[in-house]
Amino acid sequence: MSFSRIIDRGKGPTRLFIGGVHGKEGLTTIKILKYFSGTSIKDGKLVLHNFGESSYVSTLEKRYYTSNVGKKVLSLIKEYNPEIYLELHSYKPESYHKLTAEDRREETGVPPLIELEEGILMGSISPLIRITFFHKHDFPFILEIPSNPSKKSLKVCLEILNLVAGSRDRNEILEKLGRKYPSAVKKARIYFIEFSDNIVSIFQKALKKMKNTKFRDPNFIKDYITNEASVRGLSITEKQADQIVQALSVYQEHFPDSDGGISWRDDKV
Ligand SMILES: [Zn+2]
Repeated sequence: MSFSRIIDRGKGPTRLFIGGVHGKEGLTTIKILKYFSGTSIKDGKLVLHNFGESSYVSTLEKRYYTSNVGKKVLSLIKEYNPEIYLELHSYKPESYHKLTAEDRREETGVPPLIELEEGILMGSISPLIRITFFHKHDFPFILEIPSNPSKKSLKVCLEILNLVAGSRDRNEILEKLGRKYPSAVKKARIYFIEFSDNIVSIFQKALKKMKNTKFRDPNFIKDYITNEASVRGLSITEKQADQIVQALSVYQEHFPDSDGGISWRDDKV
């Protein structure tokens, strides 16, 4: 199930597509990653990696990133520093409702996944690494494919991978995807603004506070986040406050020498 390949077409953007992030998902995602030819790539690099079986820990939990496979995921991201990053996941049919439900923010802290077609769902990656390892205008995203995908699902998924791999940046991807899936991309854009205006702005505020004071106790940090959100009239769920606390701790572990400026910035627009 473990598989790795690099397609190098010279100068240009770096893309990293990974699968088998947790549990048995690699059994499904290998069917895509191994047969992805990358013919659409005109320049830059694509790194493909599929992991074998591991125990299932959600990527929304900080402990995922201290597990063996979680550490490998982070080391790939650190090594290649991709502008375009895809996590290919797979789901059992009975999870479809939970993944796409409107109240997913309350349950898990993240917005519902959006269906493109044939059961292929799109969403953002875990906020724990979205805020800390990527720039605002990178394109890190998740595709969820059914664990027993039909031929049609596989075909649609490969077409999306081709579209993404053949693009140079976030704008190009969203424009091309938007032509194919206008309502899904409209939703994705709204979720992105919501995330940026709420979660990221509070994260940055709390990070600044932590840099300037001996502000370390997770309970105090969470209180600060909740309070700050209500003062500024931002909508943050309990789960989201927990995730901001965890993202802060991921950031401090991986970027201890940072001066408080963070990787989420506008410099790549
Ligand atoms: Zn998954």
